Amino acid sequence: MDATSTAGPLLSIVVPVFNEEDSIDLFLDAIAGPLKEAHVALGPGGRSEIVFVDDGSFDATASKIIARLRERPGLRLVRLSRNFGKDAALAAGLAHAKGDAVVPMDVDLQDPPEILPAMIAAWQRGAKVVNAVRADRSSDTALKRASARLFYKAFNRLSTYPIAADVGDYRLLDRVAVDVLNRLPERIRFMKGLFSWIGFRQETVAYKRPPRAAGTTKWKFWSLWNFALDGITGSTTLPLRLWTYLGGTIALAALLFALFIVGQTLVLGVDTPGYASLIVVTLVMGALNLVALGLLGEYVGRIAIEVRQRPLYVVEEVLEAPEQPS
Ligand code: UDP
Ligand code: MG
Repeated sequence: MDATSTAGPLLSIVVPVFNEEDSIDLFLDAIAGPLKEAHVALGPGGRSEIVFVDDGSFDATASKIIARLRERPGLRLVRLSRNFGKDAALAAGLAHAKGDAVVPMDVDLQDPPEILPAMIAAWQRGAKVVNAVRADRSSDTALKRASARLFYKAFNRLSTYPIAADVGDYRLLDRVAVDVLNRLPERIRFMKGLFSWIGFRQETVAYKRPPRAAGTTKWKFWSLWNFALDGITGSTTLPLRLWTYLGGTIALAALLFALFIVGQTLVLGVDTPGYASLIVVTLVMGALNLVALGLLGEYVGRIAIEVRQRPLYVVEEVLEAPEQPS
């Protein structure tokens, strides 16, 4: 037996950081205790690694991490060449994590490490994805709460695979789920949507979201809005298809109205010269435009789905009868 086969399950903590010099030490100190408990929860030989992804910070973030690299084995820093955004940083972290279970976590301690043992327990019960649900968002502003609620509503109405409300990126992913995520080649990565798209048995663990421990949020309202747009356009083509139905309905109504105007003109005669011909031409052209838009939308939607190149399906396991003894 070699050294690795005697070692127990490995837990990877993936932490994207962008200009977080004040948070690094706080984070590493705060997570030490919960990680010890997590090792116990993992069972004999339970280990962990922490993978920091420096998302192009231009403050002392990287040097703060480098200063602590020697402190514990399995502490790693993946540096991106510039700021690519949290979702890209997370993707880099997932690709570099070696664990049997991988947990993305924010550095600001808004994802409390204390619930790691509960997440591990759910994983050991067979869940492939354990979502940490914010039971209480009172630390967020009312505007952020309201807009988040609206977003989840809109997304789940439109998308064929609903995302769980109030689940951030804080969750535990089994190695099989991480491997599937790493295989998805799409460029615009809306992680919340992908986490849900992969499927698998999912469980939830509730927690209260504390306020940021240090530093300031990197999200501006505008970037959250764009994030929501990416999420919806990246996960559903329903907004495109809308025009097919809307265009079809309006075209039908316009046709009926045009027939009515023509009939009226034939029966009752011309009251305003030019009105009948003008309105009929306008309606028919408008209707044609909408139908054509809908038609284009159908094709654009197909292109959008094809270029994502997601696998057709994800196999969880293949079961078959054991070999019969003859
Ligand atoms: N983050 C990142 N790249 C970015 C923005 C944020 O890696 O471009 C990291 C940030 O350092 C933190 C996590 O993503 O560890 C969550 O960011 P933040 O706390 O600002 O978001 P919020 O909790 O307000 O949603
Ligand atoms: Mg935060």
